[in-house]
This record gives sequence, C-alpha cells and structure tokens, in this order.
Amino acid sequence: MVSDELNEMYEEIVMDHYHNPRNTEFLSKPDYEVEKNNPFCGDEIKLQISLDQNQKIVVSVTGRGCAISQASGSLMAEKINLLPYKELQSNVDLFRKLIRDEMLSEEELDSLGDVSALSGVRKFPVRIKCAMLSWVALEEIIKKNN
Ligand code: ZN
Repeated sequence: MVSDELNEMYEEIVMDHYHNPRNTEFLSKPDYEVEKNNPFCGDEIKLQISLDQNQKIVVSVTGRGCAISQASGSLMAEKINLLPYKELQSNVDLFRKLIRDEMLSEEELDSLGDVSALSGVRKFPVRIKCAMLSWVALEEIIKKNN
C-alpha cells in the first residue's frame, strides 16, 4: 500500500517535470555544450553549462523524446543548477547508483531529492538509457574538462 502511494507520488513528480521542464532557457555563450541522443528510443538532449565567477554552474537542458528522458533532464537540471562545478561528478555517480539499484544511504537519498523519483526506472531495463541520457551528457562534459 505504502509503496503504491510512493509510486504514485514519484510518477507525479516525473510527469510534472516532463510537462513543465526546468532550466530550459538557452544559454547564448555556454562554456560547455554537448548533445546526446538515444537511438533506441529517439530521445535527444542538449546540455549547456556556464560557470559563474564562483565556479558555480548555470545549466540549460533542452530536448525531445520520451517522458523519462525529458523528465530526467529536467530533474538533473534542477538538481545541479548553481552547484559548484566540482560537485557534479558525485551527483552523476549517485544517480547511477540509484538507477542500478545499488544500496544508497539515507543521506545519499536525501541529497538526490526529487531526482530519486526516477528510481522506478530500474525495473524497466530498456528505459535506463532514457533516464541516463542527460547524466551521460553531463559526465562527458566533466571528462572533457578534467
Ligand atoms: Zn526514451
């Protein structure tokens, strides 16, 4: 019963981000930009990142595709916007743990916030690529700049 309610709440969060994606404002001069697509589903994501004077990031995510891919991009954007650049990789790692159903501590779950609404995706292996798309894009930017 409790888990049904939880699923419903999670679904609401995901659908809200799909219909009203956050941080979609295009950055005209981003410091980093990457486009990724998931040919298995037809999903496309464009990720832009700028760094402000304090090494905090400003993020823009746009794209098209299935609800999971687009909601995941929006949830990621909301989560990482204004974070220090050096904290990005740990967020990618956490999300990967969530999707792979690895054990997360209470603290880690808390720090993911609404992003944890995507945890249900792990039951649907074909959707994992959709959910990971924007995070893989983020990781590509981090790796290029290490
Ligand atoms: Zn998809």
